[in-house]
Amino acid sequence: MRKLAATYIFPGNRPPVKNGLLVCDDDGTVVELQERADNWCEEAGVEYYSGVIVPGFVNAHCHLELSHLHKKTEDKTGMGGFIGQINKLRKAEPGLVLKAMQLADRLMWAAGIAAVGDVSNSGISIPVKQKSKTTYHTFVEAFGFHPSRAERAFDLAVQARNEFNQSGLPASIVPHSPYSVSESLFMKIQEEAVQNRGILSIHNQESQAEEQFFKEGTGPIADHLQHNIGLDVSHWQAGRSTPLNTALEFLPVENTLLLVHNTFTSENDLKDLELQRSKENTFLALCPGSNLYIENALPPVELFRKHRMNICLGTDSLASNTALSILKEMITLQQNFPDVQLEELISWACVNGAEALHISNTFGSFDAGKKPGVNLLTGVQLKNLQLTEHTKVKRLL
Ligand SMILES: [Zn+2]
Repeated sequence: MRKLAATYIFPGNRPPVKNGLLVCDDDGTVVELQERADNWCEEAGVEYYSGVIVPGFVNAHCHLELSHLHKKTEDKTGMGGFIGQINKLRKAEPGLVLKAMQLADRLMWAAGIAAVGDVSNSGISIPVKQKSKTTYHTFVEAFGFHPSRAERAFDLAVQARNEFNQSGLPASIVPHSPYSVSESLFMKIQEEAVQNRGILSIHNQESQAEEQFFKEGTGPIADHLQHNIGLDVSHWQAGRSTPLNTALEFLPVENTLLLVHNTFTSENDLKDLELQRSKENTFLALCPGSNLYIENALPPVELFRKHRMNICLGTDSLASNTALSILKEMITLQQNFPDVQLEELISWACVNGAEALHISNTFGSFDAGKKPGVNLLTGVQLKNLQLTEHTKVKRLL
């Protein structure tokens, strides 16, 4: 039995408990969360911490496979420049890729991340995920801009998904983005999603280049497809729809959906979203560190709050971020959106991510019977409950 006391305990799904005491079994299962009087005395067997205790974090969007690209890409190049770089760099010696993934997995664990929604294009991360202390849901990502590629891209995704499942790892097939998936590939993914009811995820409105490609059929994405990959883009019909509506057209409303990034999502987009889907199973996964790295922009967080969207947080990959740390993402948001309260930020980092990945029966909050992991945050301004650039995380359980 562990008895952990702290200045504040944030349960993840309700208001903080001042002078809280969290009781857990040796295996980390929560027994209870107690509130103590201001004048309580020290007790034998209780570990006291000055700081804030929170549940283990959920990283809702990562690409473990790209970990070997840490510090290899140039930042602030915009989406056209970034995908061009990834295209050139992503092929590497498998041993090197594996080592980088193992290190990233260990560092995420040490940074208090208990569960990850990880985008994969192959089964290469399977051995890392099987041995990991972190729980993974894998989004097996299909892409193929040209319709002639649909069959092959979908078959590869099914093959990889089956490899994950056969290794005892949960996985679902998802589209990469509205601009990199043809209508015929979208239809195959849709059919599969209706059948298996898997969790869906898609990169949405990550760059202005995406808007330009949908509106005019020009810009950095058109250039990348034509000149870097050498594709014929003559079938592309610009001006037909928005990126978000294209995704929504093919992604069944019954399936849970993570819309990732949303850096350039407008109020009209949110209205379209609200007309077409329930908020209950729709999540906006924000990756502010990656958005600053690639586009030097941040998503309209106040707009999402105004529309009461479910927000969760992701790190994206080490190709477009300096670290895989949910705390770092929270600090970035706190600094740029000072109106967001710590309780809300923690709900994004914990319980909302757990709900998005269908693991909230174990992760995301300190309800009795769950085993969410326990993190201590130090360097928090306790008077006004704000994270600072000095806030650190230490995993207690
Ligand atoms: Zn991503």
